[in-house]
Amino acid sequence: MEPLLQLYTSMGISPAVYQYGEDALIRLQDRFAAIDKVAEHNQAKVLAAMQKNHVSVACFAASSGYGYDDIGRDNLERVYADVFHAEAALVRPQITCGTHALTVALSANLLPGDELLSPVGLPYDTLQEVIGIRNSPCSLAEYGVTYQQVDLLPDGSFDYDNIRKAIHSKTKMVTIQRSKGYATRPTFSVTQIGELISFCKSIKPDLIVMVDNCYGEFVETIEPSDVGADMTVGSLIKNPGGGLAPIGGYIVGTEECINRCAYRLSAPGLGKEVGANLGLMTSLFQGFFLAPTVVAGAEKGAIFAANLYEPLGFHCVPNATESRHDIIQAVELGSEAGMVAFCKGIQAAAPVDSFATPWPSEMPGYNDRVIMAAGAFVQGSSIELSADGPIRPPYAVYFQGGLTWYHAKLGILMSLQKMVDAGLVDL
Ligand SMILES: *Cc1c(COP(=O)(O)O)cnc(C)c1O
Repeated sequence: MEPLLQLYTSMGISPAVYQYGEDALIRLQDRFAAIDKVAEHNQAKVLAAMQKNHVSVACFAASSGYGYDDIGRDNLERVYADVFHAEAALVRPQITCGTHALTVALSANLLPGDELLSPVGLPYDTLQEVIGIRNSPCSLAEYGVTYQQVDLLPDGSFDYDNIRKAIHSKTKMVTIQRSKGYATRPTFSVTQIGELISFCKSIKPDLIVMVDNCYGEFVETIEPSDVGADMTVGSLIKNPGGGLAPIGGYIVGTEECINRCAYRLSAPGLGKEVGANLGLMTSLFQGFFLAPTVVAGAEKGAIFAANLYEPLGFHCVPNATESRHDIIQAVELGSEAGMVAFCKGIQAAAPVDSFATPWPSEMPGYNDRVIMAAGAFVQGSSIELSADGPIRPPYAVYFQGGLTWYHAKLGILMSLQKMVDAGLVDL
């Protein structure tokens, strides 16, 4: 037995599962090479921005208290702005997660009487309470911001006729979610997002367009900020944190929008001037530097998963062959038992908490019970190998991350092993 197979076998992966994976990999060589090209482009983009802004050891110094004159924090924001080709950026550990970053962007730029439009259907679960689609104290609805939604057409494309009808004098902002989130619609390419932005702005030029960029960063060589988004928003414990950022969120966009976001995040009058970095600058810079290759590894893992599960009869979104615009892989397992087995495998392959058993439970911000598998260095980090999903039909597990491709590969093989062991799959 070859040494690698011997090692995998000792970790619980059967020769049949291993060989099934190797056979799939032979078909994926060209796609993996294309992913490496995108990573090379994005690596150069990040490096160029760091060099242009003279990142130096002085940028890694910790600040405390108010954080006045924090050169590292200010420089990181210039680096983000340059990578995203935006006028300005807000990149802060005081932004606690992606939902918080989106909430800041929305509430800073919507006033009572304004309307928010989602032309891409229902937003991500946690955003529903932020907007007030589901009642919640302090939602935008409570502050007198109304909301309209236009669903996607059955084929997943934009319903331009109804989007046109939905835009009126009160429509102030359009929110576009790039990634599918916990839905099974396709994720949009940056080019598609650009077309939608142009269409909306052709109807009402002064619309502010916000893109929820979670899980999309560095999957392509362009970002929503390259195609007209006024604000592009995401989480640092997803793609752009590169696995090293222990907390944080970012908003990049126009100077006007970003300044308002800073006033909302801290206080009117204070804005970007306050906010200590608490010694996190090295992690935030270094994580951003690593992010293009980390994202490439995660994307390879997602494609590998689709190419293992789809031939076994499980519907995969995206499917095994289509192009990718985020790092999420949905695998419809058809039953709660399937979701549990899959997640057990991801958990068992983790570097941290591999001995734990994931189980469905209630989660704040989510409507259904949710199962989550993660053995991450940063709690809840989903650029690290993780799988989760709400317990509802079609019983889809959303699989993402992997700080290295090899870990992602092992995790997916282990998930398949658990499915085989549970009698849910016959190789
Ligand atoms: C993860 C995610 C969010 C929310 O981010 P959190 O960091 O979990 O609060 C919002 N939108 C999308 C599409 C996401 O994937």
